[in-house]
Amino acid sequence: MKRGYRYRIYPNKEQINLLEQHFGSVRFIYNRSLFIKNTMYSKFKINVTEVDLNNNLTSLKEQYLWLKDLNSQSLQQANRNMLTGFKNFFEGNGDYPTRKSKRDNNFSFQVPQNYQINLTTSKIYLPKIGWIKIVLHRDFLDKEFIKNELVTKQVNGELILDQKLNKEFDILKTLTVSRTSTGRYHVSILIDDHIPEPIPVEFHETTTIGIDIGIKSFAILSSGEVIDNPKFLKKSLKKLKKLQRAVSRKKISSKNRKKAVLKLAKHHQLIANQRNDFQHKVSIKIISESQAVCLEDLNVSGMIKNHKLAQAISDVGWSEFIRKLIYKAEWYGKNILRIGRFDASSKLCNVCGYRKDDLTLKTRKWECPSCKTFHDRDVNAAINIKNIALNNLNTVGTTERACGLTGIGQRYEARSHSIY
Ligand SMILES: [Zn+2]
Repeated sequence: MKRGYRYRIYPNKEQINLLEQHFGSVRFIYNRSLFIKNTMYSKFKINVTEVDLNNNLTSLKEQYLWLKDLNSQSLQQANRNMLTGFKNFFEGNGDYPTRKSKRDNNFSFQVPQNYQINLTTSKIYLPKIGWIKIVLHRDFLDKEFIKNELVTKQVNGELILDQKLNKEFDILKTLTVSRTSTGRYHVSILIDDHIPEPIPVEFHETTTIGIDIGIKSFAILSSGEVIDNPKFLKKSLKKLKKLQRAVSRKKISSKNRKKAVLKLAKHHQLIANQRNDFQHKVSIKIISESQAVCLEDLNVSGMIKNHKLAQAISDVGWSEFIRKLIYKAEWYGKNILRIGRFDASSKLCNVCGYRKDDLTLKTRKWECPSCKTFHDRDVNAAINIKNIALNNLNTVGTTERACGLTGIGQRYEARSHSIY
């Protein structure tokens, strides 16, 4: 099973310069290769390959000498990422690759090989950059791996993880270095412990729960439980609007504006952290309390038409929450059942199946004209999501389908690995 671990690093001034050079150059190569890829295809119908692009890198280095100061593998990785973007696009798993810009916070590069971590002195070695202080606030290597020296070695009594030792066992995957808009540097280490995911447990109607996205609250469960957004998050979102207004009032390119922008960026970070914590807590609670969790697939582009709902979804970070639910389900061997977006879960009466086509988003409570059941809109939707998901299983047959469905999670994980 692959898991990602993120740690903060504290580079010195000289290292910061080198890191920034890597961020910029990786973006440069990515954009350059994207241009070549697009042009060669549109003009000559030639499909440029990774080998072509990497060969081109050699001539680029003659042209732009500063590229020689950088880790070639990080640059090659930029080519690979760009091509993976195309692959994902053609498989229907992403948007058409576009240029990366500074403005979209694209400050990251990957180090596929030759990194080291001194676990005794808490320092990480990155090729072409050197040893940087790292805060390893939690273990990422299994104790058995260390005991058997699978990817670590002892040097002068210090325990050192060396990616070069990895060849045989392939435990250490790509390392990603990134910078936040507030100027913090992190590394994310992707580890494959080669332990298969647990086989999903069996589940029954009583141990299955349906979740619906809330507009006023965060989520609603088929049990009737309403999960509210925490108060501190609501407060922070209010303050965010204030800070945004403060920025817009300041003169462009003034010192005060810069200050206000930094303040705003820091507040964004705070909200991201608060939301992350909250989502971890909620997802772990839901996963531990049930054997199967039913979700509706989000068709976000379809929802953009409905501005209010789109806003609600982006506010709660719903897709990130689903991602957390899915990988936690995999870790703990629980099932995720997903249904299509157009199963009209909120319009059906969960008791008699009457379809109330004229139900608007504003209507929070309604009475079924057919069976006279009084519904809370969201709870009814959550129950329907659960019923439809279980019903889909019954019509296809066995729980095999349920296991197959968690495969969606695997694909998901492969694309964007989990950072816990
Ligand atoms: Zn009814």
